[in-house]
Parts: sequence; structure tokens; C-alpha cells
Amino acid sequence: MPRPICAVIHQDALQHNLNIAKQYAPQSKVFAVVKANAYGHGVERVYDAFKSADGFALLDLDEAKRLRQLGWTGEILLLEGIFSAQDLQVCLDLNLSFTIHSTHQIKWLAEFSQPAQFDVYLKMNSGMNRLGFPPEQYRAAWEKLNQLNNIKSITHMMHFSDADGERLGQSGIDYQYGVYEETIRDLPGDRTVSNSAAILRHSQQLLSNTVRSGIMLYGSSPDFPTHSIHDWNLKPTMSLRSEILAIQEIQAEQTVGYGSKFTATETMKIGIVACGYADGYQRISMDAPILVNDVLTKTIGRVSMDMLAVDLTHIPTAEVGSEVVLWGKSSNGMVLPIDDVAASSGTVGYELMCGVTARVPFMIEN
Ligand SMILES: *Cc1c(COP(=O)(O)O)cnc(C)c1O
Repeated sequence: MPRPICAVIHQDALQHNLNIAKQYAPQSKVFAVVKANAYGHGVERVYDAFKSADGFALLDLDEAKRLRQLGWTGEILLLEGIFSAQDLQVCLDLNLSFTIHSTHQIKWLAEFSQPAQFDVYLKMNSGMNRLGFPPEQYRAAWEKLNQLNNIKSITHMMHFSDADGERLGQSGIDYQYGVYEETIRDLPGDRTVSNSAAILRHSQQLLSNTVRSGIMLYGSSPDFPTHSIHDWNLKPTMSLRSEILAIQEIQAEQTVGYGSKFTATETMKIGIVACGYADGYQRISMDAPILVNDVLTKTIGRVSMDMLAVDLTHIPTAEVGSEVVLWGKSSNGMVLPIDDVAASSGTVGYELMCGVTARVPFMIEN
């Protein structure tokens, strides 16, 4: 028997979440963001469920190639654009759209000698200070691009730093959106501004011909803990499941695990689970929520490389072989949101789902 851990990808939930994105942005084209190998889910494992999206957005040329191999003929957007002049040939061959965020990328385009008609997304840095042209340089960049004869369309792109919270103006988006609007006011071209948080929280207020939905498609709330996946009607798309390997009865004063970080204050029943940090479970987590036989309990002591311990004192039905859900959904449909688990190690659902390691087998479920 293989070690009893596995990550289950739920096709119906992927489809459901994409439909929620469409409902929130009915006037927009909805792109499915599948960077980082579809947020750790696997591009090939989400493709069928996302085929009804209007496009895909990602970073790696290799992932773009894989989408083409799967048969996708629609739009693919490279969110960080090209990394070298040579990449333009690949964009031409694979028919990829790409972001332009710097002057050296414009230079590569100007020097590209093949006949081509590229759809590009000119990125404004409206306050995130990561990629893009600052507002005062944006129009000059647009003029330069607009003069090139290998450009078919220029979409105005920006990215919010705080669409999930109350910063930079009341809603977290007012300042950045204001700068963006003001800068492109009289320029022709489509717009793309919204990520998941902006789609769910600000769709009424934003003009975004294309929205770029990422984390919400994968069943994690972009503004947790303000809103949970239940509030947004999203479903978990990845379930990390394992089993109880062994059970220990311990007395008051006895400790559990490396460093004896947990000391019992009474007689306890402890379960040892086949999951550790070498599977992608956060070692730093403490008292993380976890399901055993559909009952919510918590981890105790330090997570080790291949195992972790859970409190079974109040779960009389738990035995060796009982199902454990680290995050996601149990086989009976009980849900433990990935956001709740992430919070117990001070991180976000994004990091957990991207961090499942290569030794964990994946399964697809409807
Ligand atoms: C990752 C990314 C997105 C998607 O963000 P989510 O918060 O996962 O919805 C959108 N736009 C850009 C530029 C990104 O890099």
C-alpha cells in the first residue's frame, strides 16, 4: 500500500467557482489565472473545468505550451510579459498575449524583425510598486507602443495592492483606481484591473473589460478573515487527505513530539497522521484545525517531516485508518476551509495550495 496521503482536485468545485466569478463580473471577459501550475493544482487537472473561461493568464512559457497542447486555442496572457527578446518568437508561434511593464520590453518589440500582430497589456504601476510604468511615464510608453507596426491592441492594465482591505482610501482601491482612470482617461483601448478580491468586493465600481480571477477559483477567500469561502459561496477545490497511522494514550505531564512542545494536562488519546512538512504542511503551525472522521479537532505539538499529531480525546470513533482532512473536503463532504488552516501558521491559502510537494499523489474527483 502507498502511504495514505493524497491531494484530491474537485472538478465540480472548480467549475462552480468559475461560475461565481462570471456572476460577479457579468459584463467582463473572465480569465482564469493558472500561474504556479494552477496554484498548485496542476494545469492539466484544472483545464477541463476552466475551458469555459474567456482566457487563461499565467507566467511561464512552459505552462502556456502545455495549455496549447491540451487544445486551448483562445487567449493566453503572460502576466509578467517576456523575459528576453527571444521569447517574442515563442509568443508569435504560440499566439500569446503579454504584459509590457518596462522600457526594455518595448525595445525588444521594436527590434523584432518577424511580421507579427501582438495583443499587449500595458501595465501601470499605480501604487503597488512592483511592476509597471508609473503614471507620469505611462502615456509616453503607450505612445511608443502605439507607433510600432507589430502591435494589434493595447489593453490598459493595473493591479491592486489592497483590493482585499480597507486601506488607501475607504475601500482599498480608490486611490489606485483614481490614478489609473485619470491617466488613461482619453486613451483608446480595453482595460483590465480586477483580481479576485476586486471581482468579489468592487465589481460594481470598476470598469474592467477583462477580469483576472485567481485565488477565488481555487476555493480560498481573498479577503479572509473578513469573509470566508462560505460568505462568497466558493467551494474547496483541493483536499489534502490522509489517515491515522497510530494511536497513543498519554497521561498528564507527558509530552508529544520533537522539542516536547505539548504537555498533556490530563489523560489523552493522540492520533499520529501521515502528513508532515515534507508534504507541504506548515511546520510553523500550532493548534491548527483538522478533521478526523468528520469531527473538527486540532493538531498538537510540533509538525515533523512525515507526521503530525492530533487530539483524538473527544473522538471515540477514531482508530487507525480513520480519514484525516488537513484542508478541503472530506469524502462525506465536510469542509475545512484552507484559509482556516493557513491562519494557524500566519499565512494564506495561496501558500498552502502552492506548497504541496512532489511526493504527494494527486487524484481527480468530480
Ligand atoms: C496572480 C495575479 C492575479 C490573480 O490574483 P488573485 O488574487 O489570485 O485573484 C491577477 N493579476 C495579476 C497581475 C496577478 O499576478
